[in-house]
Amino acid sequence: MEKIAVMTSGGDAPGMNAAVRAVVRTALYLGMEVVGIRRGFTGVMNGEFVPMSLGSVADTIQRGGTNLYTARCEPFKTEEGQREGYEALKKAGIEGLVVIGGDGSFHGAQALSRLGIRTIGLPGTIDNDIAYCDATIGFDTAVNTAIEAIDKIRDTATSHERTYVVEVMGRNAGDIALHVGLAGGAESILVPERPFSMDDIIRKLERGVARGKKHSIILVAEGAGRGMDIGKYLSEHTGFEVRVTVLGHIQRGGAPSAKDRVLASQLGAYAVQLLRDGESGKMATIYKGVLQAIDFDTVFSTPRLPDMSLYDLAETLAI
Ligand code: ATP
Repeated sequence: MEKIAVMTSGGDAPGMNAAVRAVVRTALYLGMEVVGIRRGFTGVMNGEFVPMSLGSVADTIQRGGTNLYTARCEPFKTEEGQREGYEALKKAGIEGLVVIGGDGSFHGAQALSRLGIRTIGLPGTIDNDIAYCDATIGFDTAVNTAIEAIDKIRDTATSHERTYVVEVMGRNAGDIALHVGLAGGAESILVPERPFSMDDIIRKLERGVARGKKHSIILVAEGAGRGMDIGKYLSEHTGFEVRVTVLGHIQRGGAPSAKDRVLASQLGAYAVQLLRDGESGKMATIYKGVLQAIDFDTVFSTPRLPDMSLYDLAETLAI
């Protein structure tokens, strides 16, 4: 394989730049030519290809977001769009492609693989919602960013003896909420994977106040409900002063954590080795501590759950 490309797609995640850097440097180390594709599959279709050198990824490992930009590209979901993308890649002499993104992006990568461009996917999303991943690139940073915010909210919650409802991201997955809730000492954690009752939450709040608790934090995964609605319900059904904070996009930004930089570097290098070895249609991942490549079809067909033992532990500790 002489020429490969790398792109980021879907929502940005901290560590994407570190992954691109690892792809570029490994490819150059192995004597391949490498190009960056700007704006995800939009850039594939439009031929937004930029030659990458050792220097073009210098000073990027610590940067959040993605220097290659990212996009959501509806036309690429059609056969026509995919054919157009394939032709553009072919014309540029690109034989292999590394796609860094979430499972939507992997569907696009799989389409190109079926058309004849070798593709490897890297799990890059803060949501951690991809099967066969111990963690996705960006998840650790997002959890740490949210924890920092929770610690600050806790200070004001204690000072004013208030109840805080904090909504975190995660799409349909409760991973961010579970990790942040456990690490931030939340009283209740609401995740889409576990049904909850508002009565139970209220009983818990009342029990806490009865034993002299000065504040309570209720963590809501965006997939479980809207923080505003939960806060309003609690205000209306208790005598407590309730405030709501939606952390939103701050969870997507910022410098990647050391853990995300290491993961991104390992996966980026591995993806290039897989392409060199003739692999295609697979996700490079660390799963159960082992660096491995899993077929996209297996990834798509496997339902995944967060580690729900964390939920049970958080419940026990918040007694
Ligand atoms: P995140 O989890 O951060 O949202 P994602 O990769 O899942 O990332 P999507 O918006 O679902 O984000 O997908 C990103 C892009 O991948 C889409 O805009 C589209 O260009 C392409 N894509 C998504 N689904 C498909 C599909 N079924 N077939 C081909 N391409 C797809």
